[in-house]
Amino acid sequence: MSEQVVSCPCGQATLTIAGEPVSQFYCHCSDCRRIHGGAYAPEALYPASAVTVSGETISFALKRTPRVSCAKCGARLYADLPSFKMRGVNGTLLLGFRAEFHMHCREALAPVRDDLPHYAQRPAAFGGEDTLVDW
Ligand SMILES: [Zn+2]
Ligand SMILES: [Zn+2]
Repeated sequence: MSEQVVSCPCGQATLTIAGEPVSQFYCHCSDCRRIHGGAYAPEALYPASAVTVSGETISFALKRTPRVSCAKCGARLYADLPSFKMRGVNGTLLLGFRAEFHMHCREALAPVRDDLPHYAQRPAAFGGEDTLVDW
């Protein structure tokens, strides 16, 4: 099984990630936008057991989802999704990040026009529905 080790910008915290992501996407929800300070957040979902963190981290939840960051440089490492037994790794840390779709587009700050599906909320595969927005 492939394994990759990625680190935050300052190098203090590292993630060892086994295998391939279950799913990769851009999330436009207000939680992700405010926590990441961007228009949307790239996330790669892995089984929680496939992501091992080392170094000092801090965890902060704005609404429900705890976001784990490097304690020194503050870079977002991953979002903890215990109800799915998943960790959503910050796609900006990964070399091979390739989103398959956009989600929570109903909350988007601005439309993004590309060839990917733009789900209004979470897609059905993640307990939502597959309604698309008309960008
Ligand atoms: Zn989100
Ligand atoms: Zn750091």
